[in-house]
Amino acid sequence: MTTRVLRGGVGADGEPFELRVDDAGGTIVTAGPSVVPAEGEEVVDCAGQVVLAAPADPHLHLDKVDTSWRLKNPTDELADAVRVWTGGIDLLDADEVRDRAVATIDDFVANGCTALRSHVNLGPTSGDAPLKGLLAARDEVADRCDVQLVVLVKGPLRGDGDGPVAARAVIRSAVDAGVDLIGGAPHSAPDPASDVQVLFAMAAEMGVGVDLHTDETLDPAATSLSVMADETERHGWGGCVTASHCVSLSMQPEEHQAAVAARLAEVGVAVVALPATNLWLQGRHDPVGTPRGVTAVRRLLDAGVVVGSGADNLRDPFCPAGRADPFETATLLALTAHLSPAEAWWAVTGGARQAMGVGGGALDVGAPADVLAARGRDLEDAIARASAERTVLRRGTVVARTSVTRSIAR
Ligand SMILES: [Zn+2]
Repeated sequence: MTTRVLRGGVGADGEPFELRVDDAGGTIVTAGPSVVPAEGEEVVDCAGQVVLAAPADPHLHLDKVDTSWRLKNPTDELADAVRVWTGGIDLLDADEVRDRAVATIDDFVANGCTALRSHVNLGPTSGDAPLKGLLAARDEVADRCDVQLVVLVKGPLRGDGDGPVAARAVIRSAVDAGVDLIGGAPHSAPDPASDVQVLFAMAAEMGVGVDLHTDETLDPAATSLSVMADETERHGWGGCVTASHCVSLSMQPEEHQAAVAARLAEVGVAVVALPATNLWLQGRHDPVGTPRGVTAVRRLLDAGVVVGSGADNLRDPFCPAGRADPFETATLLALTAHLSPAEAWWAVTGGARQAMGVGGGALDVGAPADVLAARGRDLEDAIARASAERTVLRRGTVVARTSVTRSIAR
């Protein structure tokens, strides 16, 4: 067993906090205000840094990342983003997808994330380059990051027509090829409830979890989220189902939000809030009192729902911004959902990890030694500054270290 001591840092509260981690078992061995290294024991210098549980990102599109410079969205509308992406998808080859994905995963790792979940858009005419590319990327980064893949195929999915049969075949072959979960975007199909039911039935048959783009619309009449709650209860899948976006919930009356949130907590559906892409794409036709488009996070937290948050689209036709940084996501979530910095940070650490079904999120003895140390005087300061100066450990091993050199001419 090799152990190392993280010395000289502070905890989220700004008080001295040191750790001993074990890279054989991959867990935290000792935690407290002072951990004295044994003779010869490796020391990781965390002076000036806040020592935090490593974040995770539960909702990405690594197949699309970093394509906005060549796949231009002429209107910045969601419908055109879909059109531009679909029109450009056959330009991709698997190696190119893999290289973009690996570069972005390494940005995430350097910024502190040791677990990521990405959707992969596929369809009957998409070809399999996006899938092959992301499966290769997942293998290539296995020594530094856990990557989960979700197959995302647009409906309609029910019936014996050529379209639904072909769409279901794409989902099936992606699961056979090794993706971890079934995804989808049932709100954009003609009969959303029916597509939700088909996706749950396929997941049950194939023994994988479910993570759906859910009600990504300001239309308050969209109710896929409630259908997901019913299906989760019916299959007994509490803790294995994630609803991403849930934009329409933010537009529904308060008492309805509270009732839906209570139901999600009861049956165990996690919600992933996606402030960056929702801020960019939603509300473009509401110039007065423009809605934020971010789900009803406070209401969900009050009800005890597991809430995670992610970066979603990074520099692609769906969103021009994004630097693969959990501090960026936490900042956007705090500002748009009126969360405290600590609440927003939980959404990109413990909440994200619970939604993904992976461990970590707290720095207790015996917990996974997935750690981010970042410059700052406490958590709030570290989030606000988002310094590039960071040290990242996964299962007790240092997987990334970034130092910053700045010179100012006076
Ligand atoms: Zn998405």
